[in-house]
Amino acid sequence: MSSETPSSGHTHCSFCGVEQKPSIPLIAGAEGAICEACVKLADQVVTNWGRRRVLSELQGSIPKPAEIKKTLDSYVVGQELAKEILAVAVYNHYKRLRHESGDAACSNDMHNDVELGKSNIPLIGPTGTGKTLLAATLAKIVGVPFVVADATTLTQAGYVGDDVENILVRLLDVAEGNIGKAEWGIVYLDEVDKLARSPELQINTRDVSGEGVQQALLRLVEGSQVKISLKGKKQREGNSDEAVIDTRNILFVAGGAFPGLEKHVAKRLTPNDAGIGFHASPVGDSQKPELEALLNETQPEDLRRFGLIPELIGRLPVLAPLEPLDEEALIRILTEPKNALIRQYQKLFAYEGVELEFTEQALTRIAKKAIERDTGARGLRGILEHVLRKPMFDIPSLSNVKRCVVNEDAIDGRSEVKMVASGIAPFSASSTEPAQRADEALQIQARS
Ligand code: ADP
Repeated sequence: MSSETPSSGHTHCSFCGVEQKPSIPLIAGAEGAICEACVKLADQVVTNWGRRRVLSELQGSIPKPAEIKKTLDSYVVGQELAKEILAVAVYNHYKRLRHESGDAACSNDMHNDVELGKSNIPLIGPTGTGKTLLAATLAKIVGVPFVVADATTLTQAGYVGDDVENILVRLLDVAEGNIGKAEWGIVYLDEVDKLARSPELQINTRDVSGEGVQQALLRLVEGSQVKISLKGKKQREGNSDEAVIDTRNILFVAGGAFPGLEKHVAKRLTPNDAGIGFHASPVGDSQKPELEALLNETQPEDLRRFGLIPELIGRLPVLAPLEPLDEEALIRILTEPKNALIRQYQKLFAYEGVELEFTEQALTRIAKKAIERDTGARGLRGILEHVLRKPMFDIPSLSNVKRCVVNEDAIDGRSEVKMVASGIAPFSASSTEPAQRADEALQIQARS
């Protein structure tokens, strides 16, 4: 293919035939030339190919809701209702993906002209009950880009702080610059309750822009074309420093503790009861802790009374409540999940050739302490760090420690963690009195 018209001696674009002029420069190739307009057109075409490829890559095999929940079960203890709601929402997210990519199974049916809307989810529950963990585990399962954004750092455009658009910039980063992938990502927006304009909360939140941020978030949550600036970012070759992201298909999970929300729920459920609040028993399940029962009854209008703007609530239709964690749940969290804290510390100790054991009473005591701290499962790591700090300091300098036993007294600070030297008879993990067996063992005074 030659770009030169022999008769005229002029150079032409090999694609559209436009003649080279000072105002229309051409890029010369090995056998022809191309003009700027055709480069741009080609870029669009290639981007579209990319998007289609991403869609078909992402849809892969769609995990069924029960499979999604099963995977969540291996990382997150309890929270059955929230898990089911999330599993269905993600499954539907995938179905929309199929629909969008023109999957044959969808395109021939009679509902072809029905547009599937996304179902963003507010996760409502006390701090440290697994909201972030649920969202992060979901992202692992679905294999789409995932970011956690903190609503408290966001500000309305024009104020100092993070613009809402930055969430999309980060999503694009995680998607390695692939816009098509970023457009199917999941955003977990933490502490969304701090954006409320409720007078009760204004003391410790900066309401100057709380409502403004809610308004700004709408553009992301309800689905629109959002222009983001990529200034200062490492650019892919040929890219401009702006990008347009379509947020129609980005799934938003908005987490928050919503302190005091239960009062609004109780007030709605028992309007005539003057003594509304924690002591009202409106849902009739006396077995459940009251807070949990009330949160399970949450309706969008309660969120409005709490201080979220109706437009935003309208875009967060599927409420997923999380339960406060009791002693039993905390013990399970310590030991059962794939990366349970106790397992993590056991692995750390194993690197030093030391077995780490906790007595049952010690686990119960840790759970009780965490409940006293009132930070859900978040308190567990702090308690363990405190108890294990000394052994973790000492063990690397000691060569003969084979086993470490943590009992109730060690948790309460009444005694040190027992360190057992090699050569001592094995100690049964199922023993009901491990502490006693440990006492028989040689106790190493670390720094002596
Ligand atoms: P929040 O509800 O405040 O977002 P997170 O999900 O960040 O709480 O939980 C904090 C930590 O507590 C997590 O890293 C996790 O180790 C643990 N955790 C909290 N809830 C659960 C749960 N239901 N199952 C397992 N681990 C949990």
